[in-house]
Amino acid sequence: MTYVITGSCIKDDSCIEVCPVDCIHPKPGAPDFETAEQLYIDPAVCIDCDACVEACPVDAIFAEFEVPEKFAYALELNADFFAELSTAERTAA
Ligand code: SF4
Ligand code: SF4
Repeated sequence: MTYVITGSCIKDDSCIEVCPVDCIHPKPGAPDFETAEQLYIDPAVCIDCDACVEACPVDAIFAEFEVPEKFAYALELNADFFAELSTAERTAA
């Protein structure tokens, strides 16, 4: 399972600060932070600890099985962000 960030995210990075496995990106200062529409959770790394849900001031984070229907697209969106990132890293290498 994973947690998912949805379109309500205001990029205040509260979730990044509490995530014990550092799986929320992009981080402030990263090249793609300013242009990102929201932050994303890496589904391969998230350990479902729930800490980010408590920290989020706008309730933008949901457990995978609790994502509201209107944000259903966000599950794939979060995963795609990391799929594209690893492709870019492979291309750069
Ligand atoms: S549920 Fe825990 S591990 Fe997953 S993104 Fe949130 S804080 Fe990080
Ligand atoms: S805490 Fe919520 S609003 Fe803030 S960056 Fe994380 S998901 Fe976005």
